[in-house]
Amino acid sequence: MRPRTRELVELDRRHVWHPFTQMQGWMKDEEVVVIEEGGGFWLQDTEGRRYLDGISSLWCNVHGHRVEAIDRAVREQLDRVAHSTLLGLANVPSIELAARLAAIAPQGLTRVFYSDAGATAVEAALKIAFQCQAQRGERQRTRFAALGAAYHGDTVGGVSLGGIEVMHGVFDPLRFETVRLPSPNCYRCPLELERASCSMDCADEAERILADNAATLAGLVIEPLVQGAAGIIVHPAGYLARVRAACDRLGLLLVADEVAVGLGRTGSLFACSQEQVTPDLLCLAKGLSGGYLPLAATLATEEVFEAFLGPHDEYRAFFHGHTFTGNPLGCAAALASLDLLEDELPRLRDKISLLGTLLDERVAGLRHVGDVRQRGMMVGIELVQERETKKPYPTAWRMAHRVILEARSRGVIIRPLGDVVVLMPALGMAEEELDLLVHATARAIHTVTEG
Ligand code: PMP
Repeated sequence: MRPRTRELVELDRRHVWHPFTQMQGWMKDEEVVVIEEGGGFWLQDTEGRRYLDGISSLWCNVHGHRVEAIDRAVREQLDRVAHSTLLGLANVPSIELAARLAAIAPQGLTRVFYSDAGATAVEAALKIAFQCQAQRGERQRTRFAALGAAYHGDTVGGVSLGGIEVMHGVFDPLRFETVRLPSPNCYRCPLELERASCSMDCADEAERILADNAATLAGLVIEPLVQGAAGIIVHPAGYLARVRAACDRLGLLLVADEVAVGLGRTGSLFACSQEQVTPDLLCLAKGLSGGYLPLAATLATEEVFEAFLGPHDEYRAFFHGHTFTGNPLGCAAALASLDLLEDELPRLRDKISLLGTLLDERVAGLRHVGDVRQRGMMVGIELVQERETKKPYPTAWRMAHRVILEARSRGVIIRPLGDVVVLMPALGMAEEELDLLVHATARAIHTVTEG
């Protein structure tokens, strides 16, 4: 190890508290890779080793690293102003981006409230939905519904919606109560049915639970089409449209958390559009700035927005905001990223089908792969000890974690979610790199589970 790397690793171990990380292991045993540079779909560490970024730097790096058009947009904005507040002032890039988002979003989402992370986009949506219902005279609508195994970020509101017990359970005394709908998870169906023979009973069950609780529900928060952090759970087609219709019937606001699935990830600009759904609120973050800067947006319909209008002394304004709301650098990056995304979309369908073919050929047949789930450029590979019975591995074996370390030794960065190996390539990733990503993943799974 180079002396500089050794020094950096030592300082990291002493001072940096990493997210979702058991620091006891990190400080002692783990090999720490210190990233210094990036370019295209590759990252380089302080030892000069190169890695293919197979998870788009936590699902946000849409077009790769050091993308000329985004670099230029940020630099040009830097020459004008890096930050100016939206409290009492407007700024150029935030206006242009809001108009652009309103033009491309599912029809009817006309208003854009900015923040800086997925969690804050969801938190703003929760508070908007709650206040909107109250100001429409529905003061008894104080609760939210969410799916089993839901993940909507790590602020207290997001954690209250969250349904992943190992992450969220510890905060129980802090969480507000959430009405839980069964996750439409076809591999491990909570209703113990099989997709081939069921009639989407999970949607019937969701409708029943929503109806039973409707009087006190302000809204339903859902990741449309795919639950990402739950393990890339791909929902059955038609589920989203069913819950949209139920929300309409029952007077609930539908909050679509498109933080992970939005902006091309599932093959279309917005996941909701694939089922012709317009939510009342839609949350974006991660890929919004091309993965360059912390930027998020909560989009709302005109009907939701109007509930906040009134004379000053009625205090109907949305009392919420963050220092970096509408940050000009982030908005400038987002405008450049959206240009690239619109270019990229027509080519995406072929890449998605190539990814599917590679997974079928190389991964699906491995002895300890229980399920391969793909929607667009999101992939979850669930490892099991026994395929026939879907028996999971003992948690302590950390199988997917071992797989990602093996993949890393082959020059590919991927991440585990429990026993699910996640691939989340950048939308612009070239065919050869997709091939390398799947090939290295397959070899790593084979080595760890059969080697
Ligand atoms: N919602 C979803 C669906 C997410 O996947 C995430 C992050 N993985 C978040 C919210 C939170 O986003 P952030 O980490 O930017 O707060």
